[in-house]
Amino acid sequence: MTLLETLPNSDTAAATPASPSGNFLQEVMDATPGDSRLAMCIQCGTCGGSCPSAADMDHTPRQLFAMIRADLREQVLRSNTPWYCVSCYYCTVRCPQEVHITDVMYTLKSMAIREKRYADATAPDLSQTFISYIEEYGRSFEFGVAARHQLRHHPFQLPSMLPFGLTMLSKGRMDLIPQHIEGIEQLQAILVRAKELEAS
Ligand code: SF4
Ligand code: SF4
Repeated sequence: MTLLETLPNSDTAAATPASPSGNFLQEVMDATPGDSRLAMCIQCGTCGGSCPSAADMDHTPRQLFAMIRADLREQVLRSNTPWYCVSCYYCTVRCPQEVHITDVMYTLKSMAIREKRYADATAPDLSQTFISYIEEYGRSFEFGVAARHQLRHHPFQLPSMLPFGLTMLSKGRMDLIPQHIEGIEQLQAILVRAKELEAS
């Protein structure tokens, strides 16, 4: 079976012109810091089977990587998959080929933002809100991310989310106030240095 035959029909039918470089796989690998090992993917599917967000994704990580190899640039950059990645790294630690899956997801998000190819126009803003909590507290703050995003982009949907939010709070699955991690100063220093390196 070829890689293309493992993809959903809609992806193959909608195949569009290839990457400008003619090699989208190489383009993604070049844009990912370090050695992503993306070319080593053997399509085993362990990543999708491990992913807590797989049910909401247009394509599993395995399918997305097959699409990258098949040079389906447009479909890959429009897929919601990287946006549903919550950076848990579960796939990355389980991948038998040590592919840096989470890093590749970040690369695809950056490319989609740069080329304005994301399906949900609010997605980059959600990502930025998430990052701002990581930079300030060293961890995500789900209540703040959801509340800030809904207020900014979908204020009329807030009342319908209240019961769910209250259940999460009452069961202790969500904090009401963000908490700093230990050693936040070291993390912030690392992030500052990483930004300096990225800019150089
Ligand atoms: S777990 Fe690794 S090797 Fe298997 S499909 Fe995912 S990226 Fe490829
Ligand atoms: S890092 Fe992203 S793609 Fe990997 S298992 Fe977690 S949510 Fe899924």
